[in-house]
Amino acid sequence: MCHYRFPILTLALRVHYNLVRLGKENQRSIHQFHFNHSCSQLIDFGLRKLIRSTTLIVGGGIVGSAIAYFLSTLPDFDGEIFVVERDFSYEDCSTTRSVGSIRQQFSTKENIQISQFGFEFLENIDHYLHWDDQEPDIGLVHSSYLILASQVGLEALRFSHELQLSLGADVYLLDAAALRKKYPWLNTEGLAAAGRGLSKEGWFDPYSLLVALKRTAITLGVTYFQDEAVAIHCSKNRVMSVELRELGMTICDHFVNAAGPFAGKLASLAGIHLPVTPKRRNVFVFESPAKIDSMPLVVDPSGFYVRPEGNYFITGYSPGPDEHDPDDESLEVDHELFEDKIWPNLANRIPQFERLRVRSAWAGHYDYNSFDQNGIVGSHPEIENYYFANGFSGHGLQQAPAVGLAIAELIAYGEYEVLNLENLGYERILENRKFREKVII
Ligand SMILES: Cc1cc2nc3c(=O)[nH]c(=O)nc-3n(C[C@H](O)[C@H](O)[C@H](O)COP(=O)(O)OP(=O)(O)OC[C@H]3O[C@@H](n4cnc5c(N)ncnc54)[C@H](O)[C@@H]3O)c2cc1C
Repeated sequence: MCHYRFPILTLALRVHYNLVRLGKENQRSIHQFHFNHSCSQLIDFGLRKLIRSTTLIVGGGIVGSAIAYFLSTLPDFDGEIFVVERDFSYEDCSTTRSVGSIRQQFSTKENIQISQFGFEFLENIDHYLHWDDQEPDIGLVHSSYLILASQVGLEALRFSHELQLSLGADVYLLDAAALRKKYPWLNTEGLAAAGRGLSKEGWFDPYSLLVALKRTAITLGVTYFQDEAVAIHCSKNRVMSVELRELGMTICDHFVNAAGPFAGKLASLAGIHLPVTPKRRNVFVFESPAKIDSMPLVVDPSGFYVRPEGNYFITGYSPGPDEHDPDDESLEVDHELFEDKIWPNLANRIPQFERLRVRSAWAGHYDYNSFDQNGIVGSHPEIENYYFANGFSGHGLQQAPAVGLAIAELIAYGEYEVLNLENLGYERILENRKFREKVII
């Protein structure tokens, strides 16, 4: 039976308690693990299976690491947890190229609750994550999203807003007059209203969160290997073995796809169609003489977003549903995007930004679900030991804590306990039933 326990703090205390308990019993240093990662140990994997179950998570980014961390804290789970990550530098992964923002303003119940959980986790992070007497500093900035809507988007904004309020989100709507009054630096031409978060929104440093989750997971007994999954062998209803490029064939009781933008590719190795591909997204860092106090993260109907980052500002752009947006493994910055799509709209919306200077830029991959732009989470309906944690389409960083716990619960208990994420299940892909998230940035 499933017990959906809210408010979230109940969970926070439970996980904290487990962490402390396990931490005491099971603390091992990162160095020990580092030096113990010999091939023979992994090949030994199969033998260990006779004694304890093994979970193999492919992808050691934020999502894979959150799953590994939460699984290692669940009291009824005492199996071995292995994370296979092909690049320990994390240079090109989605997590480290993200802009690390979190919001409550989503259009589905699941995504609102996932972010509510995520923010609680981030706010109380030092209760959960620590290693070698160190505590994480993820640089959490409490701020808000200001999601602007034209007349065309007004109904959708109102609908999402009502849903957010019904779930206890701390948000409010401003009409154009209220917007003008509160944000005199904003040109409200063409705007009908805006949604604003009053608390539990902001941004943080993605890499620091990744390091904190990974180091804590290792301290709690998780083993990370630098290797690449290159083949997956399934029987009718189980993943039987996974072939790693360096270490060869391994077997596992539970297999988790946490391969981010390359999740579709990984799934195809098991003959599974997963509509998740890399989509390139560009981020531009600029300097401006503009003085805008307490500026929120502004999302414009034209497709750009902008927020402060220290003494600078960062901005990016999401193509609309009718725009050309091919799958793209390149990480080259598209500078024309800034000139053509961002700057004219940015300078129009916030005239103080007319005199900005771009200082740097980078590109990263969204783990994009082309079916309905929403996470695909849970076990495969037929291949019963195969789990998905994919397709977050630009919001996977903030979703990692809740998804991490959810997948951990499925592995340990066979059901969701804290948040019911059944609507995000893979079944909807098979049944061609969309569960669309409308507020994609
Ligand atoms: C520019 C940009 C801005 C973003 N802004 C936000 C934001 O503000 N808020 C938010 O919540 N989200 C944001 N995101 C989205 C977020 O970064 C991602 O959804 C999230 O990081 C996905 O995490 P992941 O662990 O699934 O993927 P990744 O971080 O990509 O990790 C997957 C890992 O799997 C490894 N891997 C892949 N295939 C294999 C294999 N076969 N074998 C072994 N290892 C493998 C890769 O090396 C990689 O390290 C943004 C993304 C981008 C690009």
